[in-house]
Amino acid sequence: METAEIARRFLAFFEKNGHTVVPSASLVAEDPTLLLVPAGMVPFKPYFLGQRTPPYDTATSVQKCIRTKDIEEVGKTARHATFFQMLGNFSFGDYFKERAIPLAWELVTTPVEEGGFGIDPERLWVTVYLDDDEAAAIWRDKVGVRPERIQRMGMDENYWDMGVPGPCGPCSEIFYDRGPEYGADGGPAADEDRYIEIWNLVFMQYERGEGSGKDYPILGDLPKKNIDTGLGLERLASVLQGVDNIYETDIIGRVLAKAAELTGTRYGDDSGQDVMLRVVADHVRSAVMLVGDGVRPGNEKAGYVLRRILRRSIRNLRLLSGSDAFHMHELTAVSIDAMKDIYPDLLEKAAMIHGVIDAEERNFADTLRSGTALFNRAAERTRAAGGTTFSGSDAFQLHDTYGFPIDLTLEMAAEQGLEVDENAFDSLMQQQRDTAKRDAKAKKLGNADVSVYARLLDTSGATDFLGYTDQEGEARVL
Ligand code: ATP
Ligand code: MG
Ligand code: MG
Ligand code: MG
Repeated sequence: METAEIARRFLAFFEKNGHTVVPSASLVAEDPTLLLVPAGMVPFKPYFLGQRTPPYDTATSVQKCIRTKDIEEVGKTARHATFFQMLGNFSFGDYFKERAIPLAWELVTTPVEEGGFGIDPERLWVTVYLDDDEAAAIWRDKVGVRPERIQRMGMDENYWDMGVPGPCGPCSEIFYDRGPEYGADGGPAADEDRYIEIWNLVFMQYERGEGSGKDYPILGDLPKKNIDTGLGLERLASVLQGVDNIYETDIIGRVLAKAAELTGTRYGDDSGQDVMLRVVADHVRSAVMLVGDGVRPGNEKAGYVLRRILRRSIRNLRLLSGSDAFHMHELTAVSIDAMKDIYPDLLEKAAMIHGVIDAEERNFADTLRSGTALFNRAAERTRAAGGTTFSGSDAFQLHDTYGFPIDLTLEMAAEQGLEVDENAFDSLMQQQRDTAKRDAKAKKLGNADVSVYARLLDTSGATDFLGYTDQEGEARVL
């Protein structure tokens, strides 16, 4: 089943069951505590927090998501993308567990001819929170899942909160067993690579008070209980298309195949190269979607997330091809073509997206040319002195003068068997941030027109990193 069809079926199923279909919000979060949207519930947060009254009692959506915190997993696990789509159904004080659980099961197991996803129940496992006997009983008695297929998980896996006082509650998740060739028996508690998490059902049931991390008091039951669920579209596609991982599904797979063709490599020949091809395929797609939603490469916040993703794909392309040829234009074209059924607006935006991505590729080519020379000199110096630690001040200079993201320096150093003095790097970054803050304050006091500086920052490209790291704050949600 094609990815686009999976999305259509999901929405159709919940619409048939009385839910209002809500279009995806932009990847750029309206929520001031987030940079980018990491989960389907984010656009509905004001309803869950009681700040706004929802215009419907139940809703369903396919939400565009970015999770930069998963960037290191991309290409290495079978299931982590930086851009992905979360299918979700939501209840605002309407139905609760007794309906959310059977609905999810029905959709997943109903035969394809009858509108469902047709997954063999024998392949499915579920988890519930430690003391959530209610959810366990619904799975067992109402749905008919065998008790040995229901596993209990703790706070880290199966308890949800928003990082602030307000709603919280247990989760219950559905896992797909990929089979013994992927790992040992024992269910999701034993092996998260063989048993792949596909759907998270969140039961917002309690009200929590102030606290840090998972340490907070439960003040009581919520007056209106809510449901928030998230099903990964790409993960479900990998299951339904019978492929090994999300990067081989119909949409991402096309970008991957093109990347192999352009770099003269063969996917499946070499596991190291395979990881790089998967990274490229994932990152190109994320870049297309971010630019499509108005993000521009920059040195701060969402712009920095985009720049980091773009530069990582470009560098991996160079490593794969062993040349500095430009490939982003063609990959962007394939990615847009693969996504246009789900996001027709990409076609109207294609010229703009190409313009932004092509410019960043040229910009980065210059950066790499000059920065790599400095990097090699510094690495040479380190080795000549018998050391294995690349100095923090060299890493800082690369960042400050050449716009090398720290993860680029880390990666290049690792390739030469060197470590980077990250502590020294961090403290230099902090110093620079403090100075920038002081200067900004001084300017404010002197009543200077700062808009010209803001503009300069926007356009200064690679040579003016201000030292923002990845600050999406996404760990606070889901
Ligand atoms: P995992 O444990 O596999 O990292 P998660 O518990 O972090 O997943 P949730 O926060 O529960 O994921 O998100 C709900 C659903 O969204 C997941 O069940 C999965 O299907 C999907 N999902 C989460 N993160 C990603 C990702 N990086 N790429 C693709 N799909 C994802
Ligand atoms: Mg995760
Ligand atoms: Mg999980
Ligand atoms: Mg989860």
